[in-house]
Amino acid sequence: MHLSADNRALSTDNVHSDRRFGVEHGGIHKPIHTSVQYGFDRVEDLIGAFQGTYKGGYQYARQGTPTTAALEAKITALEDGVGTVCFATGMGAIAATLLTLLRAGDHLVASRYVFGNTNSLFGTVEGLGIAVDKVDACSVEAVAAAIRPETRMVFVETIANPRTQVADLAGIGQLCRERGLIYVVDNTITSPALFRPRAVGASLVINSLTKTIAGHGEALGGAVTDTGLFDWPPYPNIFPSYRNGDPIGWGLLQIRKKGLRDMGGTLSSDQAHRISIGSETLALRVKQSSSTALALARWLERHPKVDAVHYPFLPSHAEHERATNLFAAGSWLLSFELRDPSSMVDVLNRLTLPIKATGLGDTRTLIIPVAPTIFWEAGPEARAAMGIAEGLIRVSVGLEDEADLIADFDRALQ
Ligand SMILES: *Cc1c(COP(=O)(O)O)cnc(C)c1O
Repeated sequence: MHLSADNRALSTDNVHSDRRFGVEHGGIHKPIHTSVQYGFDRVEDLIGAFQGTYKGGYQYARQGTPTTAALEAKITALEDGVGTVCFATGMGAIAATLLTLLRAGDHLVASRYVFGNTNSLFGTVEGLGIAVDKVDACSVEAVAAAIRPETRMVFVETIANPRTQVADLAGIGQLCRERGLIYVVDNTITSPALFRPRAVGASLVINSLTKTIAGHGEALGGAVTDTGLFDWPPYPNIFPSYRNGDPIGWGLLQIRKKGLRDMGGTLSSDQAHRISIGSETLALRVKQSSSTALALARWLERHPKVDAVHYPFLPSHAEHERATNLFAAGSWLLSFELRDPSSMVDVLNRLTLPIKATGLGDTRTLIIPVAPTIFWEAGPEARAAMGIAEGLIRVSVGLEDEADLIADFDRALQ
């Protein structure tokens, strides 16, 4: 995969997508539509909107507005999908996907290396009678061994946060195709600028828009995109009322009706607008932050006070070859371990540029000690199973100058 060739298409789609439906009064940006109600000239159309025969209109903003629809069309184009439903947050998108497509008695196979809150959500889902097996998704054999007759779905991330394990994305895609399973890939860390999960057979792609796509740490949002590869008619959990129209849209119709209309985790037009503006520089930002992250990872790896560096584009990374085959660059996420974990607090306090904060995917570099914060609730056993050392430090690399950033780490490590 070649960064510049791919990004030309992606960036072009990205900056022109708002105008594809026609923008009011010739404006370049889709306006922020704040109306909650949408009126109809003819009552026949109002009736048709409820019965699914009148398409293209809006009814009540909980199910979407022209502004959120424009963002959905943009994400669909970026992910090379057939449709997208946006949510108020990435967790909203993941929760809606699991809760609307799985039922009690079903079985979910999930990567053991996932975002902490996703891992916590798996516990909630188990409480509802859906069995969850967490496996080492770096190995397709581990995923295959967990599959049972009741298995409906496999859930993985591209580059796992914080340890940067890379799932066997292509192998699992092949397996899910053979077994007729819904393959959900959380593409948040890589984003479509570095990787399109459709290429490995993903059925549904999750993006926390909050992170890489919006990119500036000032808007929350999430999205689920259907790649068009999954065959919905044989899937038993689609409600009869959503088994009409083109079957390619059945999965998302159910996610929109049950997940957005009934559960209400709606993205506001204001946030959708901010995300859309932020996304316009997606390819530029990711190219720059990935380049800085690789330079910082290389520098840290040579530092005598650093014990280990986890970054998929370092040759020392366990899935280095897989990552370089699949992704256009290594992303802005890296983590490392100090040789002397007891110096961690002092080292982090000496840094002046990275902000000590829990978030990811900002224009500013963010840093956090992982075990005593985001994975504290998980406990030591779960941390060990996820490969999280007690002294692990996570870095979300921003857009600061590379030399300034490395100089700051150099001072802090002295
Ligand atoms: C942050 C994150 C989420 C959740 O996104 P929010 O927008 O914060 O709800 C999901 N998956 C991954 C991989 C993330 O990093």
